[in-house]
Amino acid sequence: MIKGNGASGGIGIGHILLVKEQKVVFERHRVRDVEKELSKLRRAVEEFVCTTEALAQKLEDEAGAAEAAILRGHILILKDPVLTGEIEKLIRSGECAEAAVEQICNMFISVFSARSDELTQQRAADLEDLKIRLIRHLLGMGDVRLSALPPQTIIVAKELTPSMTAAMDKKNVAGFITEQGGETSHCAIIARACEIPAILGAEGILRLVHNEQMAVMDGSTGEIILSPDEAVRNAFLEKKQQYDRRMELLKTYRGQPTLDADGRQLSVLCNIGNVEDIDKAINGDGEGIGLFRTEFLYMDRKKSPSETEQFEAYRAAALKMAGKPVVIRTLDIGGDKDVPYMELKEEDNPFLGQRAVRYCMMHPDILRQQLRTILKASAFGDVRIMVPMIADMTELRFVRKALEEAKQELRESGETFNEEILLGVMIETPSACLIADLLAKEADFFSIGTNDLIQYTMAADRGNADVSYLYSVFKPSVLRAIRHVIRCAEAAGIPVELCGEAAANPLMTPVLLSFGLKLFSVSPSSVLTIRKEISQYTRGEADRITAAVMEMTDSDSIKDFLCKESSKSAYHNPV
Ligand code: PEP
Ligand code: MG
Repeated sequence: MIKGNGASGGIGIGHILLVKEQKVVFERHRVRDVEKELSKLRRAVEEFVCTTEALAQKLEDEAGAAEAAILRGHILILKDPVLTGEIEKLIRSGECAEAAVEQICNMFISVFSARSDELTQQRAADLEDLKIRLIRHLLGMGDVRLSALPPQTIIVAKELTPSMTAAMDKKNVAGFITEQGGETSHCAIIARACEIPAILGAEGILRLVHNEQMAVMDGSTGEIILSPDEAVRNAFLEKKQQYDRRMELLKTYRGQPTLDADGRQLSVLCNIGNVEDIDKAINGDGEGIGLFRTEFLYMDRKKSPSETEQFEAYRAAALKMAGKPVVIRTLDIGGDKDVPYMELKEEDNPFLGQRAVRYCMMHPDILRQQLRTILKASAFGDVRIMVPMIADMTELRFVRKALEEAKQELRESGETFNEEILLGVMIETPSACLIADLLAKEADFFSIGTNDLIQYTMAADRGNADVSYLYSVFKPSVLRAIRHVIRCAEAAGIPVELCGEAAANPLMTPVLLSFGLKLFSVSPSSVLTIRKEISQYTRGEADRITAAVMEMTDSDSIKDFLCKESSKSAYHNPV
């Protein structure tokens, strides 16, 4: 078995087609007739724009407007006067068009590749795709043809460019496997939008496979089995049927309100970590953003994002969510999230040290800058602010004061923002849980972060396998903590959401419903699953299950019981 990174769910069964690297060979030469060479370039650019627009239209029909925008972005890059101006300058100096395109594109590619953030690196990949295609057009070769594929083809390549992926006859594609590319690469995005199983980062796969070889793959787990025997083929066929049935069922929940079996309305929102995730939340049918983990904007780079860059990210979320709630969490660095340039102190117990709001209180300028940018974005939608790792009332008051100062600064500079912006707190520490009644008097809403609440309640590091027997949401103490927080919020009349992984665990759904939770925030791929799960329970049924759970004394019995209850459900469809 070979393992890669599962980037788009589903089971693929088919025969391999190896797509070789698109090497283009040309002879570099000096040109005498510069005008003739320039018009050759312009013709190739025109052809490129025409074919790319046609591919983008095809992709828009198959996958959606957001995916087509990737290719339309290539047209915009090519129309950028800086890029074309530099290419033309080289041609005027006597360079042939192919070499001029190659040199200038390579120059930009090396600048973009040197940056460590994934978004800029993706731009380098886009430019590489554009370069090869433009040179092919200059040489009269046109685009690589992948439009006529035999049925059930598993495409294996070093890397798949957006244009190749767009051109494919997707109804005959059973899956994509590539050696390179991450979860956010364009190939992964297009595969998910077209519901094609994809595994990326399968190192060494090109050396192991040959054309027409039979293979099976699981796009969720990243498993690939080459030349499977009959038993494996049958097992994957069964998995595929189960997966496809489940997906068909989930699709019926798309675009629907989230209702429990009594018809009571709830909401399933999304957790996101960067700008690209906003589209995932929309495609996943989230009813808003319940958690925007802003620290990811600061990670994997050499210096802080500028105020403009932060603002663009928050505004994009507000605009794209079109009036639905967008809960932006202030920086949660520290613990296991190191940001080298932010000079976090070496600490013996980083999870108990200057993490999240504690770091922000030690660096009030960073906090105020972030609050200002969030406030500015609040003019574009229903933006709310949430503070992580609160353990003490003084921390909430500190942030409230910083928020008022940030508002004053904006008023003085004449900026528009929502004066009534909501300020909520995450309940992630036992202390916050125990003073939830007090916090509820000063916070506008609660968000329960079970990922941390479990680790701090159980005093068990969330990443330490040796104590993982303690790290479970099914622990009686954790369940009581969650119930207590929801009760306190209800008593004070403020909303409470749950944005830890527990919200996406279908076994927890009846328990959370019985506790009175109405707002679930989960990763985009879990929205429909949880909406479906919620629809199965009446409040009476959820209360019956939860009453039994709350009598139990250990997490294993609770989990087993919830598994049995869940499998009784009419819709249950194990995968
Ligand atoms: C949590 O702790 O549950 C949470 C959502 O925050 P994070 O996982 O980012 O710490
Ligand atoms: Mg947390």
